[in-house]
Amino acid sequence: MGELKIEQLSKYFGNTKALDNININIKKNEFIAILGPSGCGKTTLLRSVAGFLEPTGGLIKFQGESFFENGRSLPVEERQLGMVFQHFALWPHMTVKQHVEYPLKSSQNKKRFDSVRRKEMMDHALKLVELDQFEKRYPHELSGGQKQRVALARAIVAEPRMLLMDEPLSALDAHLKQIMVHEIKRIHRLTRATTLYVTHDQSEAMALADRIIVMNKGKIEQFDTPHNLYHYPNTPFVANFVSKALLVDGNWEGEQFRPANSENTTWAGKGIADYFKRNQMYPVRPEELSIVPAQTNEKATGLRGTIKDKQFLGRETRYIVYALGKELEIISNQMQDGEVDQEVFVAKR
Ligand code: ATP
Repeated sequence: MGELKIEQLSKYFGNTKALDNININIKKNEFIAILGPSGCGKTTLLRSVAGFLEPTGGLIKFQGESFFENGRSLPVEERQLGMVFQHFALWPHMTVKQHVEYPLKSSQNKKRFDSVRRKEMMDHALKLVELDQFEKRYPHELSGGQKQRVALARAIVAEPRMLLMDEPLSALDAHLKQIMVHEIKRIHRLTRATTLYVTHDQSEAMALADRIIVMNKGKIEQFDTPHNLYHYPNTPFVANFVSKALLVDGNWEGEQFRPANSENTTWAGKGIADYFKRNQMYPVRPEELSIVPAQTNEKATGLRGTIKDKQFLGRETRYIVYALGKELEIISNQMQDGEVDQEVFVAKR
């Protein structure tokens, strides 16, 4: 049986359809990312599961228990979930210890755990996030990363049945973000808490999640592993949002694709979704393309184009090549591929 089951879930805000027929099945211990652009409904979905928002229709069941069914909601406190928000939501007058202790002081948790057990749980949570030396500090005495660790400890201390996180790292700088991604993975390996994690950052979602729900305009575009979303997107939106793939026009000839206006070129179509075949297009990622200067390409294969921009980024070089009437992005690790205004052929690796 699935741990979290969502069926035909919808949510309207006036005329805005924030959630449109959402169907999801999540297994115990899974780390699930909800990924999509601003306004696609990620937070609405998370808040519906948390119980902060009343859906318009549909069903949410967790471990067989109705969270939302036939228009009736289970109160937030009875869902026993842990929540981490974007802006930490720490109280300035409370120490680290007091924050982490706080959820254990609810009347429900006092009934569930005796005082010895509660002390053990608090010590364990503080150790888990490596803040046991910082118990007495106040939020203004902590770094951004440490604040987020407090929020994380507070969310997991009462052993919630599921952990919900809404853009928890978006207030941190890139370096700290990387460290915290690593931390969240380590903590998930230890706690195995079933997790729903909202982000608009595809690399964060790929790094963290077992599976990713890709949302667009209130609907699920694809729910799959990071590997499958990257290699086998089902729709142009997923291809573009997850891996910045470009859609190349041309013709499918069985399992082979012939790009328009190309010389002696066909691309293999293994695993390419039916949508692209039906619409005579091929999704190609920037790192799948390479540049061959026209004069060294004796057999003249590939898409004919002109380099419009070249950006040396250190580890790689980013080219913009005008070909097929559009600008193609190409990420190359070669030392020398060509210069701006040079005529080139674009090939698929
Ligand atoms: P972001 O990444 O910007 O937080 P999101 O994917 O989390 O976006 P939601 O916050 O779920 O998106 O919003 C989905 C849609 O519902 C948007 O069109 C938004 O404007 C609308 N919406 C959300 N909350 C409300 C509200 N309380 N009242 C009216 N409209 C709302």
